[in-house]
Amino acid sequence: MKIIVIGSGLMGVATAYYLSEQGHEVIVVDRQSGPAQETSFANAGVLHPSQASPWNHPGITWQILKWMGKENSPFLLRPSALPSLLSWGLTFLNHAKPENFQANLRVNTALANYNIECVEELQKNHPFDYSAKRLGSMKVLENNQDLENAKEQIALFQAMGIECQVLNQAEVFSKEPALVENGSKLVGGIFYPKDQTGDAHQFCLKLVELIKRKQVQFIYDLNVDEFSLANNKITGIKTNKGDYSADAYVLAAGSYSPLLVKSLKLKLPIRPIKGYSITLDMDNWKLKPKMPVIDEEAHVAITPLGDRLRAAGTAELNGYNLEINAQRIRLVLQQVIARYPEAATNIEDADINPWTGLRPTTADGVPIMGETPIKNLYLNTGHGHLGWSLAMGSGKIVTDIITGSVPDINAEPYALARFLK
Ligand SMILES: Cc1cc2nc3c(=O)[nH]c(=O)nc-3n(C[C@H](O)[C@H](O)[C@H](O)COP(=O)(O)OP(=O)(O)OC[C@H]3O[C@@H](n4cnc5c(N)ncnc54)[C@H](O)[C@@H]3O)c2cc1C
Repeated sequence: MKIIVIGSGLMGVATAYYLSEQGHEVIVVDRQSGPAQETSFANAGVLHPSQASPWNHPGITWQILKWMGKENSPFLLRPSALPSLLSWGLTFLNHAKPENFQANLRVNTALANYNIECVEELQKNHPFDYSAKRLGSMKVLENNQDLENAKEQIALFQAMGIECQVLNQAEVFSKEPALVENGSKLVGGIFYPKDQTGDAHQFCLKLVELIKRKQVQFIYDLNVDEFSLANNKITGIKTNKGDYSADAYVLAAGSYSPLLVKSLKLKLPIRPIKGYSITLDMDNWKLKPKMPVIDEEAHVAITPLGDRLRAAGTAELNGYNLEINAQRIRLVLQQVIARYPEAATNIEDADINPWTGLRPTTADGVPIMGETPIKNLYLNTGHGHLGWSLAMGSGKIVTDIITGSVPDINAEPYALARFLK
């Protein structure tokens, strides 16, 4: 089969890998000049089955209202974005009900656990360097109530196959000695030994190198303008470089996926949630952090990636705006200063490499993968804040669906059909 994959971010590249493993003729197209130039470029770098919860958790409504319009809040809804969020927003809030949240958490966790198996298999068969570490991750806690809640939630995590240990203050500092004890507000933490880290951009570059050798073709600087449709089948894509056609098409265009299928009268409940990252060299750090530290309250993760430190997070509903807002970058930088004050005192603006990306976020917090009502159009999109934790598992599942194999995990919860009922 000849298959066109639209998008060379994590989802497009992972899907192309598995399709090529099955011997299909694959063409990946992207409007950028290389792979993973958009949201997959500089994310927080954590593959974390432990944090697969959708952002629409019980309590999110009050948090959003409390923070609305506040420039320094971790989750910022800009009033100007409201008109684009109406029906998506209602579904988003409906899924914050405890029973919906729990169900969505379970399906994301199942996919994230499966993803780790896929990543390990890839690394066994094709070892390549992407600054990967398998040292776990640690969520840090600054108040005693959160620590008590963490102890109560351990059984729930374990039931979903997530190993974790609640740590007291001393154990946190012994697990990550780079965290500075003096003046720290930390009261404890949760350690997730199975989480991994790695540079998503580097990963995509290496995977592209690998699959190019298997004859996967990449066409860059190619903007897909629209699909051509006849008899409920895609007959081609119209692009700035002319028309292309194939037997099947995979849409992996991240936050832009809903825009591309509008003319097909297909509604994808995905909206962009903006986030930021900074990346610093740690050459002069005396004690370098070794594992990612996550502050859920601040929506920020700080991750060592080789000799660099990546801090990423915050969430902003602001449409497709991609401006770098200095105040939001400052929020991320403040987290680095709070956790590693000695090493971070001399950081200059010129050292931080600010970046922003749009998380393709579905209304229920679960990605959309597989078939559409259009015969030969498939989706691999909507992975929100979890794309790095879900990419390889998603690529494998979408490939299984296209090729008629039974996916290793139940793919029904990820189907677009759930929104079409
Ligand atoms: C600040 C931040 C931190 C994050 N941290 C983590 C983390 O630690 N762990 C985790 O699991 N996830 C994390 N994520 C989420 C993760 O990065 C995303 O879910 C993932 O990158 C999405 O990948 P994608 O392939 O769907 O989209 P993208 O990477 O955006 O790829 C889509 C591609 O489609 C192309 N495209 C779009 N429209 C067109 C068109 N019309 N024609 C041609 N090409 C087109 C784009 O150029 C792009 O290359 C984070 C995200 C952000 C923003």
